[in-house]
Amino acid sequence: MSIEIKLSRSTVEKFLTCPRCCVLENKFKIRPPSLPFTLNIAVDNLCKNEFDYYRKLKKPHPLFLENNIDAIPFQHKKLDEWRNNFQGLRYISKEKNYNFGGAIDDVWQKSNGELIVADVKATSKNNFDWAETFNKYEYPKAYKRQLEMYQWLLHKNGFPVAKEAYLVYFNGQKNEDFFNNRLNFEAHLVKINCSSSWVEQKIEQTVNLLKSDIFPQPSTNCEICNYLRKRWKLSQTFK
Ligand code: SF4
Repeated sequence: MSIEIKLSRSTVEKFLTCPRCCVLENKFKIRPPSLPFTLNIAVDNLCKNEFDYYRKLKKPHPLFLENNIDAIPFQHKKLDEWRNNFQGLRYISKEKNYNFGGAIDDVWQKSNGELIVADVKATSKNNFDWAETFNKYEYPKAYKRQLEMYQWLLHKNGFPVAKEAYLVYFNGQKNEDFFNNRLNFEAHLVKINCSSSWVEQKIEQTVNLLKSDIFPQPSTNCEICNYLRKRWKLSQTFK
């Protein structure tokens, strides 16, 4: 029996954007340098605390009322586990021999029982325009895939899941006259209609890659590898 492959939703995301980095990170533990986004983590935590307040009360968050969302924050004994980066909401496939999971930010429950996946994001833009950002850049599409992978996990764990998911987006106001040690945010609820139909196949493809001896080519539009490539070429001319 082969060894169970443990993978996260970011492993699958890496597989989709650059299979080589997926292999480097997961098989060889080689990762590009990165810094922790501590301010974003602070926003995440404060937002979670606020949703937990309404969860205890079993009442809708004011943002739900403003946006006509007929739901309340979902109560479940495993919610803290699902939100934990080192545990997360998981699904184990005995047949395909993998253990897939991801740490969710929040889950809300509609009055019909369906669960809504929500993820918290922070940014600072002069003009917050989700549709424009979604069409222009790749990263919002990854946010959508993130929500869809969480939806798939909830579904595989036996819960009814709503098609729509939400990004709770906090936009930091950077053009105020004074700082006064305070960063003000405007909140946007971005509703995204999702489909998790692609998720299982991509998990399986990621697992198959990680089990194989294949070392894929790097992505051609990645800043890091392009930087390394240019450095390498230049270094060859100075030999
Ligand atoms: S192109 Fe290179 S650095 Fe970029 S994601 Fe792929 S392997 Fe990683």
